Amino acid sequence: MNLKKVEKALQKKGFTAVIPKKWRKSIILEGQVQSWNDKIQAGYLAVGHGFKGVVNDIEVPGIQKEEILSPQVKDQLLEGQSFDVVIVGGGVIGCSIARELSRYQLKIALFEKEEDLAKHASSRNDGMIHPAFAATPGSKKALYNAKGNLAYDKLCNELKINFKRPGNLILFNNPLMHLLGPVFKQRAKKNRDHGYQMLSAREVKKREPNVCKEQRGGFYLPNAGILSPYQLTIALAENAIENKAQVFLNTMVNRFDRKESEICSINTNRGQCQAKVVVNAAGIWADHIAQLADDRFFSLHGRKGMDVLLDINTGKLQNHITALVKMSQLGSKTKGGGIIPTIEGNLLIGPTAKETPYREDYSTEQEDLLELLEKMKTNRLLKPADIITYFSGIRACTYEEDFIVEPSETVKNLVHAAGIQSPGLASAPAIAEDIAAICVRILERKEKVEKKIDFNPHRNTSPRLGELNLEQRSQWIQKNPAYGRIVCRCEVISEGEIRDALASSVPVLTLDGIKRRTRAGMGRCHGGFCTPRILEIMAEENQIDMVEITKKGGDSQILAKKTKDNIDYQFKKTKNMKN
Ligand SMILES: Cc1cc2nc3c(=O)[nH]c(=O)nc-3n(C[C@H](O)[C@H](O)[C@H](O)COP(=O)(O)OP(=O)(O)OC[C@H]3O[C@@H](n4cnc5c(N)ncnc54)[C@H](O)[C@@H]3O)c2cc1C
Repeated sequence: MNLKKVEKALQKKGFTAVIPKKWRKSIILEGQVQSWNDKIQAGYLAVGHGFKGVVNDIEVPGIQKEEILSPQVKDQLLEGQSFDVVIVGGGVIGCSIARELSRYQLKIALFEKEEDLAKHASSRNDGMIHPAFAATPGSKKALYNAKGNLAYDKLCNELKINFKRPGNLILFNNPLMHLLGPVFKQRAKKNRDHGYQMLSAREVKKREPNVCKEQRGGFYLPNAGILSPYQLTIALAENAIENKAQVFLNTMVNRFDRKESEICSINTNRGQCQAKVVVNAAGIWADHIAQLADDRFFSLHGRKGMDVLLDINTGKLQNHITALVKMSQLGSKTKGGGIIPTIEGNLLIGPTAKETPYREDYSTEQEDLLELLEKMKTNRLLKPADIITYFSGIRACTYEEDFIVEPSETVKNLVHAAGIQSPGLASAPAIAEDIAAICVRILERKEKVEKKIDFNPHRNTSPRLGELNLEQRSQWIQKNPAYGRIVCRCEVISEGEIRDALASSVPVLTLDGIKRRTRAGMGRCHGGFCTPRILEIMAEENQIDMVEITKKGGDSQILAKKTKDNIDYQFKKTKNMKN
């Protein structure tokens, strides 16, 4: 560990007011710099000097430390309860871990602070199951990406999630990039990507007829896949619940009490409980959770990415995932983004990459939009009018730019799945397998952990009418006429599918929750027509007043108040409308 070298590097860049200090095996940076980008740059300067992690506590004038928002729910639901494993975080990583652990005879609980699962990075991403090619060979990212990618065919089959492998075309903008062919092949080989091919411009054009004329051939990786990241996350949780795991929404971990070197109790907004093992899968807040356990040996910085979503009609204009890369981009920290078909048949363009001090600020900026419009030109037929919406997500980056998947070195019953930035979705099944094995090893220090003989990997699902032929549809409609009543005309989603979603084992409390599960409201009109009917169905199924329903929890009320007192908004369940 070479503190002097870090001091020197900081001085050289003019960061004279930054003080590096050793803390356990890590380095802590304190002091002040002028801008957020300076802070991030200083953090990177501390990497590669033999420290386990970089903790960046440098202050920037005008930027306050962001506080984590607590759920409005306050009760004693968890008071006095004990679990074998508590997982903090209901993103794709936490839910994959819950499912993996539900293979064992264990009492498992997952705590998610939001009113639904997959509300942060796990729904705000590109849904791409990356080939491992882009990860630095030998890194944890490369290892988990390669293993995770291969797991998806079986996993999606078990969870009944749609999954395809359209393949990834990395397009060159310069014919000289063909000289890098042996380097590309070597890297793909090292990262265990199979079936790769160098393609000439003509071969690319044959595969992708609408590609721009600037392309000069490229590198093809057939392993690249696509799926719906939030449907996957919810499906993982539902299957974990089918195998007896418990999911607690609106539940935030506020504090750990420690006895000697173990977490002995977990304080939440819903009471105090105990766990033999705690898993930190808290996404961008994972360093905060580590801090609560006095184990913050790393810090996370948010890297925002914006995407635009194009109309479903554009899906037929492109077959593969494409990205036109420049020579200068090859060593960059991010994969650069591109055009990605979605599993539902739209096209996505993105993501951009920009450091941000705010961990949950999903605002979008014109500058990013302009960058994405440039990327859009990779396909000649796409135009700005095809855009139906845009969104952003935040990657949870460590300064080492690698995942942290390991037991804590100082807290005996804490396990970290932290710094899971891209390709975290692609890596999730492999990360979950390792984290579950670590948990079992910790538990087995005290008693043997048995596998469940009746573990059921297959998720119970309801029909998706849009994917069935007319005969199959009419069979379902005969069983339940609600499948014949179309509520969302853009996406062709029936009342029956919305009612099925509301009957899920993970409670659906918001309009966005319905959207994530069924796609109702996700089409071109963006819920302009179907929202009133969806609210009626939600009120009826959840036995609540329509005025109480929010778009995305918190204060996001959709209806302000009743305007006509003689209308009864409290719908009662009627037999013929229920499934
Ligand atoms: C723009 C963008 C595009 C991306 N594209 C891809 C892609 O195409 N392919 C790919 O492989 N990866 C992609 N990624 C990365 C991928 O989205 C992430 O790696 C993955 O979603 C991380 O999942 P997670 O479960 O760790 O985090 P999250 O999904 O953020 O989940 C963490 C959860 O923890 C909860 N939480 C936090 N603190 C607490 C607390 N105290 N108590 C209770 N709950 C708490 C949060 O509310 C949150 O729901 C992309 C990321 C971004 C931002």
